[in-house]
Amino acid sequence: MIVGSQKSIDEIWDMIKGFKKVLVFGCNTCVAICHAGGEKEAETIATLLRMRAAQEGKDIAVDFSSVMRHCEPEYFEPVMEDLKKYDLILSTACGVGVNFLSDRTGTIPVYPGVNTSFYGAVESPGNFVELCAGCGNCILHLTGGICPIARCSKTLMNGPCGGTNKGKCEISKDVDCAWYLIVERMKKLGTLEKLAEIQPARNWSTSRDGGPRRVSLEHIRAYEEKEAANTDSAGGKK
Ligand code: SF4
Ligand code: SF4
Repeated sequence: MIVGSQKSIDEIWDMIKGFKKVLVFGCNTCVAICHAGGEKEAETIATLLRMRAAQEGKDIAVDFSSVMRHCEPEYFEPVMEDLKKYDLILSTACGVGVNFLSDRTGTIPVYPGVNTSFYGAVESPGNFVELCAGCGNCILHLTGGICPIARCSKTLMNGPCGGTNKGKCEISKDVDCAWYLIVERMKKLGTLEKLAEIQPARNWSTSRDGGPRRVSLEHIRAYEEKEAANTDSAGGKK
């Protein structure tokens, strides 16, 4: 899931205080699980902003609502007309949701209420840990299921480095050395000798530096195109 943390009310207030009608718009998927931006958090932010407006004598109306996901049109298209009643949408989705919505709200700005942090998992209640960096070319089959890109502090592909110490990374005794974990895991799996195999130079072209990446599912695209070709302009079947 995508993990984020809520921006401080002071930062949010600075963003919104020039507007008159603000909607705090929650997303009930990833950011709800990490208690950053679901409906409950949207309600709390809206309440705090109303109190702040009253304290500072500002005439700002703040409402809240939410949908299941900000990153799929089927969830927010039904509420598009409601969104247009506001002069600012404060989205508490991750950055994907803010971008996606921004492209669709015309002259209404969409501001972020959450700092998007990483792709991670729930390590224990209230603790989230980064486990994947979305590199687009997964090599977990070579590293015992432990990601050196996200979990090694230097993103080393052939660690450990000289800083590893009793299973911990040199950056902190509280951070596991990813390569220590990889070696121990591969020992357990009986695949340690695989680490000695020479791998070709890694292809980083699938990673982050070439503009926005896309994944297209051809069978779904072909189906949608066929459906569109069989539908007339009034929405009926040809
Ligand atoms: S190798 Fe890439 S895709 Fe696989 S877990 Fe690591 S960052 Fe994610
Ligand atoms: S100590 Fe381990 S995790 Fe830290 S930078 Fe070196 S190889 Fe990576």
